[in-house]
Amino acid sequence: DLAEAPMALTPMDQGWDELLGTAPGPRMNATFVSLARNSDVWDIARSIRQVEDRFNRRFNYDWVFLNDKPFDATFKKVTSSLVSGKTHYGEIPHEHWSFPDHIDQDKARKVREDMAQRKIIYGDSVSYRHMCRFESGFFFRQPLMMNYEWYWRVEPSIELFCDVHYDPFRFMAENKKKYSFVLSLYEYVETIPTLWDSVKNFMKNHPEHIAEGNSMGFLSDDGGENYNHCHFWSNFEVGNLEWLRSKAYVDFFESLDMDGGFFYERWGDAPVHSIAAGLLLKKEEVHFFNDIAYYHVPFTHCPTGEKTRLDLRCHCNPKDNFDWKGYSCTSRFFEVNGYEKPEGYENQQD
Ligand code: GDP
Ligand code: MN
Repeated sequence: DLAEAPMALTPMDQGWDELLGTAPGPRMNATFVSLARNSDVWDIARSIRQVEDRFNRRFNYDWVFLNDKPFDATFKKVTSSLVSGKTHYGEIPHEHWSFPDHIDQDKARKVREDMAQRKIIYGDSVSYRHMCRFESGFFFRQPLMMNYEWYWRVEPSIELFCDVHYDPFRFMAENKKKYSFVLSLYEYVETIPTLWDSVKNFMKNHPEHIAEGNSMGFLSDDGGENYNHCHFWSNFEVGNLEWLRSKAYVDFFESLDMDGGFFYERWGDAPVHSIAAGLLLKKEEVHFFNDIAYYHVPFTHCPTGEKTRLDLRCHCNPKDNFDWKGYSCTSRFFEVNGYEKPEGYENQQD
């Protein structure tokens, strides 16, 4: 007769969730949000696992998944098993993932052919353009998102290298922050040649939306005449949804959308969000999270300061930190805000 192979108790039997310990304190009305395709399931699974291990297993925030097609059973099963909060799955309506009527299809097609020849990244892609327009103008007003005040955007295949020992949503709320970033850099000018012309047009038509004490100095070296192409990398964002749903932001998006650059060029949601944050918010409302260590191909944000890295049990190589290198705009952000750069930044400049 065969004996039953010995087996340890499963973590669930031992009350795994209790062993891990739930963080005390209030929760904000907040959610993670990921735009993804069904085929992204294993790449988003890796991201979720890291976010859960480093932060959310103690906080149990919800997670909203959005897709231009219905999510399949595998996607829902795998992601809901990983998320410690509630999961919600939304299908994006056609109007938010298609060409608006005012777009000239022939003109848009010629642009894609031309960009393909010039080998501009995603230059030939229609779906990438829908994605950028959706992230710029629509994710925050999907029915599922209307239930929340704060969001944290997570993309497939990202990494978190340090423990997040406090609640970034609560930090944002208590410190009156509306938008945040971990990496900043210069945008490829080929993707946004006329974006700043559109922005200037908006500034002229809507002076009432331009914040006093904004961070124009982050975006422009000549007081707003020209864009220096600096932007916050939007694949990571913790932000306030009420701000994105405000008249100021929606007017901004609609003004850009009418100019057609999401299709006649290849405007990314990163410069769109960044320019909005730079002009519509006071500079104190934009936050740099030094202590959230992050990777999205090909850039790493590894916290400057050895004490921070050890306290937060980080596993990133400080040499990989992009913040103080020549192609990053984070130095400029510090200068515009009059912040002292963190100790040790000089050693990470190349
Ligand atoms: P990159 O980071 O700019 O190289 O672009 P990604 O391929 O990571 O796309 C950005 C985000 O949009 C990711 O969260 C993707 O999962 C998502 N995404 C991109 N294209 C599509 C698409 O056609 N459909 C859906 N549902 N999501 C998409
Ligand atoms: Mn990505």
